[in-house]
Amino acid sequence: MEKKNALVCGAGGFIGSHLVKRLKDEGYWVRGVDLKYPEFSKSAADDFVQGDLRDYSTCRTALVKSNINIKEFDEVYQLAADMGGAGYIFTGVHDLDVMHNSAQINLNFSKLHPRFKKLFFSSSACVYPQDIQKDVNNPGLREEYAYPANPDSEYGWEKLFSERLYLTMQRNTGVPVRISRFHNIFGPEGTWNNGKEKAPAAMSRKVAEASNPGEIEIWGDGDQTRSFLYIDECLEGIRRLVNSDYTGPLNIGSEEMISINNLALMAADIAGKYISLKHIPGPLGVRGRNSENTLIKKVLDWAPDYPLRKGMEKTYSWIAEQVEKSK
Ligand code: NAD
Repeated sequence: MEKKNALVCGAGGFIGSHLVKRLKDEGYWVRGVDLKYPEFSKSAADDFVQGDLRDYSTCRTALVKSNINIKEFDEVYQLAADMGGAGYIFTGVHDLDVMHNSAQINLNFSKLHPRFKKLFFSSSACVYPQDIQKDVNNPGLREEYAYPANPDSEYGWEKLFSERLYLTMQRNTGVPVRISRFHNIFGPEGTWNNGKEKAPAAMSRKVAEASNPGEIEIWGDGDQTRSFLYIDECLEGIRRLVNSDYTGPLNIGSEEMISINNLALMAADIAGKYISLKHIPGPLGVRGRNSENTLIKKVLDWAPDYPLRKGMEKTYSWIAEQVEKSK
């Protein structure tokens, strides 16, 4: 049987670089494309195009290349986006870039549908309305809660627009799409110190850099809650979704919600350090957010269940190593 082939857009990023490895392990021929190569290890891709996917011609080149015999990609994984953690998304200063850059990439791919048989798009929990995320005890965000829409960031609005764009592509052309709404993915080889890092990486870094006993800074009162999904389960969810017949947006997230204070204390406990928390003003996002996994269980007969603590242990150990290396 001929090898399946896949194009991974955003292959230099955190999830994309892990996804390339996963697809290679499954026997795919993989081309990666990104502005940059992966930061922390060599890409496992068979071929890597370095380029800007805001340019239509780069998207075309990534999908058509005369030196290999691929007329049509079996699967495109569109993960390229201008994004980051709360420090990047919620300050407002990057809003134009976030909306324009990511929408442009998605507009390009939605027009190139004759060049692939299926497209996966990574949307986000940030699409959900802010008014149902005001309580730290969020009971979970079901997929249907996305409308009436009122995301708390321009990043979320762009994701909602692009979900609709790809669903329109599917409806008008027959090319299938699969859409995930990721809830805070974390793990080793993710951004940890450039202002785009998410809470698990930020807490791990702060704790790793702190003395023992020591103190770290937390934005807000730290009671805000989130759930975090370990990278391996994210990849499992992507692959199961792509292989399924389900065509609507689907949560890929954990239901194990935790406050940012407790996440910081978990990192401190893993490190074996006595850490006190100093609360300072900072960008926060919604008050409480959690995945709700009824639908994923129903349509994929699977849901994430890897304990947060185990994922944090692996992540902390990788980040502590990076902190040591950077001294
Ligand atoms: P990431 O920032 O590590 O990866 C995104 C990659 O896209 C980067 O390597 C970046 O260089 C690339 N990119 C951006 N603009 C580009 C352009 N113009 N041309 C080519 N490449 C470009 O982010 P990630 O955490 O790996 O996220 C992957 C996808 O999943 C994104 O679409 C993101 O919005 C979505 N998502 C992630 C999370 C999470 O917690 N990590 C949560 C929800 C949704």
